Amino acid sequence: MTIREILKMGDARLLRTAQPVTAFDTDELHMLISDMFDTMRSVNGAGLAAPQIGVDLQLVIFGTDIINPRYPDAPIVPRTVLLNPVITPLDPDEEDGWEGCLSVPGLRGLVPRFSHIRYTGFDQYGDAIDRTVDGFHARVVQHECDHLIGVLYPMRIRDFKQFGFTEVLFPGLDAAEDD
Ligand code: ZN
Repeated sequence: MTIREILKMGDARLLRTAQPVTAFDTDELHMLISDMFDTMRSVNGAGLAAPQIGVDLQLVIFGTDIINPRYPDAPIVPRTVLLNPVITPLDPDEEDGWEGCLSVPGLRGLVPRFSHIRYTGFDQYGDAIDRTVDGFHARVVQHECDHLIGVLYPMRIRDFKQFGFTEVLFPGLDAAEDD
């Protein structure tokens, strides 16, 4: 089990456009993904993108097959490894939702995201993934894939009155559990 350091906002490596993965099903890739799941689980994250641990690849993981204590009311998103993703909004509908980020610890912001998307890409074995999703699942995918183009969620916020410290915005939440 290897927990990797999560880069924080301000680190230039979070602002890069990531490189596509070209070699699937390699020991190196499996090791990296295993480290990413260990790292995500250690902080109860909903997802993690390779650039957040300083790896310049188009690789994100998200979801769990169990309830995430940080998002107890969120629907379960299947445990997914997604490489070289492409997101297509299916209509212009957007919805606002509160987001946090392991690279922006202690803060939450209200972020508009497309409600209905299709996403495609590959898993770690090179098998194609093609899903049509909405709601929280669509939000998580959009948040994680933004990391691959150097975008952190505060850059998507439209109303900065809806951005602040988790402990102030949501006093009921255990601050230690946030990010
Ligand atoms: Zn994030």
